Amino acid sequence: MSNTVFTTDELEMPCPECKGKGEIVSHGKSTSCTKCEGKGVIMTGLGQTLLHFVKKHL
Ligand SMILES: [Zn+2]
Repeated sequence: MSNTVFTTDELEMPCPECKGKGEIVSHGKSTSCTKCEGKGVIMTGLGQTLLHFVKKHL
């Protein structure tokens, strides 16, 4: 796999809701971020397109 077409930055980006931490801290308690499901990253439009394509052809 030496020929990388996409970088991960193009497929996912840090979640703006939790700032990439995957959890939201409020009132001293941390809860898993619902927007990114605790992953800390959310998929970009290109990432979704690629995932859709991969699922379709597997
Ligand atoms: Zn998040």
